[in-house]
Amino acid sequence: MRSPVQRYLEHIVEQCGDAGGEVASYIPELADADPDQFALALATVDGHVYTVGDPEARYSIQSISKPFTYALALQDRGIAAVDESIDVEPSGDAFNEISLASDTGRPRNPMINAGAITAASLVEGETAPERFERVLDWYGQFAGRELEIDESVYRSELVTAHRNRAIAHMLREFEVLTGDPEDTLDQYVRQCSVSIDTRDLALMAATLANGGVQPRTGARVLEPRNVERVLSVMATCGMYDSAGDWISAVGMPAKSGVSGGIIAVLPGQVGLAVFSPRLDAHGNSTRGVTVCERMSEDMEMHLMHVG
Ligand code: GLN
Repeated sequence: MRSPVQRYLEHIVEQCGDAGGEVASYIPELADADPDQFALALATVDGHVYTVGDPEARYSIQSISKPFTYALALQDRGIAAVDESIDVEPSGDAFNEISLASDTGRPRNPMINAGAITAASLVEGETAPERFERVLDWYGQFAGRELEIDESVYRSELVTAHRNRAIAHMLREFEVLTGDPEDTLDQYVRQCSVSIDTRDLALMAATLANGGVQPRTGARVLEPRNVERVLSVMATCGMYDSAGDWISAVGMPAKSGVSGGIIAVLPGQVGLAVFSPRLDAHGNSTRGVTVCERMSEDMEMHLMHVG
């Protein structure tokens, strides 16, 4: 017997079909994605995972890596030290904007590329490869299994990363980055290439929903005050220049990535992950956004819901 939750999820997925948009192509390897792939996973804080579609289809994590790397920088250095390098103001700009805040000289937030590249540099480790090994292990603690990178996505992004290379060198010029910007860029591109599936993402989101404790392994991964900080930044900046529309319509801290994934977190309750590669102009999955809007409304998941 399928549970009512399972039946409901299958029903809305059927109702929220293709919502248009284009598969990302600025990273050549991503252009080959099957635009009709779809998966949804809902993980509860007690570790149950409901799935629809193909929850084991693999893709690169892309920008959904950003809140987790930021979390590791916070855990390593403390909130005050990280705040000296990265602000927490929504930028209203695209994710790949080449800019620093004019008043502070810092990246505006850790969810846009400038802030995410800076966060990667703040992870502890002697060298960029050492820092990346820690990042990879860290994501695995959230997912509850060991992860690896997709080498072809990594290589494809690295050779075409002109814009992110420009951002990394800008950060070095203004002394936001202190080390070699090429090494930090390489580390950032690696983190974006980590291969995950939708079930992994739901469990990563559920770890945040569960106050930093992985629901299945029971391990405490992230300190509660850092969870609070990460979720705050996801709520205000996670969907880039559509963060305002998102928080109004869906009402949950979230993060999207250009391979088509979205995670959303309902604190104390569930982590949600959706995957569908067609994107809107902001780089957010069109079908993913539609499904989340619908679920939020039907299941009263909006954090500001008042009846
Ligand atoms: N790796 C991608 C980039 O830096 C991530 C962007 C995204 O997912 N929005 O351009």
